[in-house]
Amino acid sequence: MSENNNDTTRRHTRHLHPDQSPWAVRVSDVGSAIGRSEHLDDVFPAPTGIGDDFYGVHPGSDVRVEGDLDSLKDGLILTATVSGTATGRCSRCLTDLENPLTAHVTAFLPFEPPEPSEHDGEEEQDVDLEQEEAQDVYPLLEHGNWADLESLIRDALFDLVPTTPLCKPDCKGLCPLDGVNLNEHPDHHHEKTADPRWQALAGLRQKLEREEGQDRDKNGDGQSDKQ
Ligand SMILES: [Zn+2]
Ligand SMILES: [Zn+2]
Repeated sequence: MSENNNDTTRRHTRHLHPDQSPWAVRVSDVGSAIGRSEHLDDVFPAPTGIGDDFYGVHPGSDVRVEGDLDSLKDGLILTATVSGTATGRCSRCLTDLENPLTAHVTAFLPFEPPEPSEHDGEEEQDVDLEQEEAQDVYPLLEHGNWADLESLIRDALFDLVPTTPLCKPDCKGLCPLDGVNLNEHPDHHHEKTADPRWQALAGLRQKLEREEGQDRDKNGDGQSDKQ
């Protein structure tokens, strides 16, 4: 730990990758010897593909990655918190939403891309790659000198975006007849007779009640029958 806090942050100020990726982080120092460790705390633009226009993390909005890089023999381990903000609308009542998203990530960043195994057919190679992906592996670039966090950020936050975003779990939604927000107007309702189908049912019910009433009258109030 350096005596000046700013130094720690500045060490990881992004140097532009040759490809000018805004998600590139220089890791040549921490990767230079086994057992090295470095703190990472930086803000990146959100990549595309985290949710959609209706609800998601808006591309370019701030995503903070805060954690530690630890150097192992074959690569780096990144243990970090990835946080951003999802914006959009409630899928039931269309209210504007703004929700913080926080993911905890442990990823392996190998210095070299996985080499094809020696006794291989191509099929076996595919299986290997699939296993790598399942373990949150993000190969480093440029001989291990750079990490590019674009995919890592996207994968981490994508999992937190609900397919049905809601303003609250029991959102009552909108009145299907006139769009009134039923959360704000819990007493809002329409007379059932407004719908001809209900009118028909109500008519039938009245008829039945009338008949029942007549029966009761015949039997003298219906109380003396039983007993
Ligand atoms: Zn809602
Ligand atoms: Zn209504």
